[in-house]
Amino acid sequence: MTHSNDLFSAAKQVIPGGVNSPVRSFGGVGGTPVFIDHASGPYIFDSENKRYIDYVGSWGPLILGHAHPEVIAAVTETAQKGLSFGAPTEIETRIAQAVCELMPSIELVRMVSSGTEATMSAIRLARGFTGRDKIVKFEGCYHGHSDSLLVKAGSGALTFGVPSSPGVPAALAENTITLTYNDNESVVELFKKIGDSIACIIVEPVAGNMNCIPPVSGFLETLRQVCDESGALLIFDEVMTGFRVGLHGAQGVYNITPDLTTLGKVIGGGMPVGAFGGKRQVMEYLAPIGPVYQAGTLSGNPVAMAAGLKTLELIAKPDFYEILTEKTTRFVNGMKDRASQAGIPLSSNVVGGMFGLFFSEDKQITSFAQVAQCDQDRFKRFFHSMLDNGVYLAPSAFEAGFVSAAHSDEIIDETLDIAAKVFKTL
Ligand code: PMP
Repeated sequence: MTHSNDLFSAAKQVIPGGVNSPVRSFGGVGGTPVFIDHASGPYIFDSENKRYIDYVGSWGPLILGHAHPEVIAAVTETAQKGLSFGAPTEIETRIAQAVCELMPSIELVRMVSSGTEATMSAIRLARGFTGRDKIVKFEGCYHGHSDSLLVKAGSGALTFGVPSSPGVPAALAENTITLTYNDNESVVELFKKIGDSIACIIVEPVAGNMNCIPPVSGFLETLRQVCDESGALLIFDEVMTGFRVGLHGAQGVYNITPDLTTLGKVIGGGMPVGAFGGKRQVMEYLAPIGPVYQAGTLSGNPVAMAAGLKTLELIAKPDFYEILTEKTTRFVNGMKDRASQAGIPLSSNVVGGMFGLFFSEDKQITSFAQVAQCDQDRFKRFFHSMLDNGVYLAPSAFEAGFVSAAHSDEIIDETLDIAAKVFKTL
C-alpha cells in the first residue's frame, strides 16, 4: 500500500469519491490518485515526497510554476492584513485596471471566486440584457457546472460519461442548444432559423476540455458575424485560455472581439478567482446599477487578488509568451518525435502554453468526433507509465496539458527521455 492509497481510503470515508472535483479521482485512467504534499516550480511532490514533473499546473493557473516566490510573498503580505472584509479594497480596482488594459474588449469587469461562477453570471447577464432565454454552446466545451451549461459538456463530465447531468431540469436544458465545435454551417443554419431568440453563444475560443482543439480558420469569425446580425451576445469563455495562450487571451491571438469574456485560472495565480467582463453597456446591466443580480461574499477577496495581480504583473514581462510558446512547442514536437521513433502514431495541438496530445492516426485534430476516436487504452497505459516514471499528466484523454515558465529546456528534455522509454512499451 502506498501512502496515497491510505489517504484515498480515508478520504472516501468522508468525501464523495474521495475528491472534491471528479477528474482528480483518476476515474478516467484507473488507479489511485496521487495525494500532493507540496510543489515548487515545475515539480509537485506526493505525500511520500516522490517528485513529479507537472504538466497539469492545477489545471492551468500555475503559468509561473508552483509557489513562485513573488506570488507567495504578495499573498503572505496581504494575508497579514486580514483575510476578508466584505467591503471594497483598493487592490480590486488595481486588478480590474490590469484586466481592462490587457483585454481591451473588457471595459468593466467583476470578480467572482470560480470559473463556474463567471460563466453562470455571464449567461444570466446575456439573458437579462437581451431578454431572450436560449443559449448556444458546443459539444465537448466545458463552461463549469451551472445548470444551463452542463449539457453535452466536456472535461470531467466527458471523462465520466455524463456530459448531461441528472439534476439539470429538462425545462432548463431545453434552452441550451448544442452545436458541433468548428462547424460553421450548423451555426449559420441555426441562426437563420431562430437567431432572434438566442441570447448568446458561449464558446471556448480554443477548446481545452475535450483535449486541446484550436478553432479552424473562420469559425470564431462566423460566431461574431451571426451574433452581430441577430443581436445575440458573443461570450468567449477564456477561463482556460485567458493569459494562457497569449497576454491578450485567445481574443488577442485570433483578433476577434467578444461582447463578454469569462476568466479564471491564471487570473487567480492559484487562488480561487474568476471574473467576467465586457462591453460597458452590457456590464452596466448588473446590480447595483442594473437589474441583473449577481453577488459574492468572498468576491474580490484581497488575498486572492494579491496572487492574481502579481501573476498578471509577471506574465506581462516582454517575451513571456514567445518563450512559453517555444517551450510548449519544443515539448510537443519532442513527444511526437519520440513516439514516432517507437512507431506510435501521435498527433498534437499547441497554442501558447497549452497543448494536446492525441493517440490517433489523424494528422490534424479539429473535432470532438476525432478526439472521441483516439486510443483511450493506449492513453491510460501511457499515463500510468509516465506517472510511475515521475511525470504528472492530466489523468484523462479529454484534458489539455499545460507548460509553465518554470519548465526549463533541461526539464523538458528529461521528460522526453522518459517518454522515449515509455512509448517503446506501448
Ligand atoms: N470554463 C472553462 C473553459 C474551464 O476550463 C473551466 C474549468 N476547467 C471552467 C469554465 C470552470 O471553472 P471552475 O472549475 O473554476 O469552476
